[in-house]
Amino acid sequence: MDDTDLIHGHEYFDKVTGTFVPPIFLSSIFEQRGTAKKSDRGVDLKYSREENPTVIALERVLSKLEGSEDTLCFNSGMASISSIYLHGLRAGNNIIITSEAYGTSIKLAEDLVKFGVHVKKAYPSADDIISKIDRETVMVFIEVMTNPTLKVIDINQVSEKTGKSGIKLIVDNTFLSPYNFKPIKNGADLSLESLTKYLSGHNDLIGGSVSGNRKIILDIWEWRRMLGTILNPFSAYMALRGVKTLGIRMERHQANALKVAKYLASSSKITDVMYPGLPNNSYYSIAKRMFRGFGGVVSFKVKGGRNEAISVLKSLKLIKPSPSLGGTESIMTYPVLSASSSINKSDREKLGITDSLLRLSVGLEDVEDIISDLENSLSKI
Ligand code: PLP
Repeated sequence: MDDTDLIHGHEYFDKVTGTFVPPIFLSSIFEQRGTAKKSDRGVDLKYSREENPTVIALERVLSKLEGSEDTLCFNSGMASISSIYLHGLRAGNNIIITSEAYGTSIKLAEDLVKFGVHVKKAYPSADDIISKIDRETVMVFIEVMTNPTLKVIDINQVSEKTGKSGIKLIVDNTFLSPYNFKPIKNGADLSLESLTKYLSGHNDLIGGSVSGNRKIILDIWEWRRMLGTILNPFSAYMALRGVKTLGIRMERHQANALKVAKYLASSSKITDVMYPGLPNNSYYSIAKRMFRGFGGVVSFKVKGGRNEAISVLKSLKLIKPSPSLGGTESIMTYPVLSASSSINKSDREKLGITDSLLRLSVGLEDVEDIISDLENSLSKI
């Protein structure tokens, strides 16, 4: 079960000391006398750019949580994404990516045009994604719950098509976390997470992971080795510590988020609340069917435009105007100037990413304090 795996899934035990808490293995090298210890994927432990025991302990936990054969950890979510692209794409290939996704994932894919890779953008719906598939398509990259307007894509419809056509389906699962949703069990070939967010959960490290079957993971392992993008042992230790409480943190994040969403929906200063956990949200039924919980991010539009949105951000006291999400602290971002700034304006308009949109990552503080901070900032517009 998830909560037990989060705590015990590393399987670490040291016979000499009796400890079952994986330590930080800072060693860069391991002895080579032909008797080297092998990692779970059968690779000799010899050099920490390739394999490191603290990182392996974290990878074991994540494989159990994702329901995958294997997992690799990287030094950022973007390192996970770039390694997946480099491993799976070559000149002449098409990648389909939704027009709404983390902006840097889209920008990096578009920049691969200089290596002969072409990007086709799709509206974040199963029908539009499927309609964009052609003979050159080798990869489809989606966020099942999109950043920042929290649209939900019916992954089962997409995976039925990609599975039959031999196209790799990649899911960035950062907004949901594998506690709420398991992409591999829903037909994805690879599930990736920015560990920076919910998985480590404390806004104190940068990391990423990729989970999938052993064969693909071994191929991507080679890219991680060549690019030198393995997670460092200190961050792996911190992530192992953070991930133990993922279940109870997610439950509290989403309980707080629902209360905040209800408050915002009742405010005369708000024109739209985007949270799939609200029964009147257009994605409520599909989200309820697919996810264990609705996550801790709530997006909303203030009455007015850019001036009003920025004024709300500036008046906040407890909630920090800051990028990122998924940590203990409540954080608010202005998507048109941050995560969505590299999405072109016409796509942003179609997606509802307007100048009045704000994205709130609801933290673990007392929800009354979060709501009172919002109330105070909204009273200024
Ligand atoms: N995917 C999503 C959905 C994100 O929001 C982010 C960062 O904000 C990333 C990937 C990139 O992760 P990292 O910042 O750890 O590189």
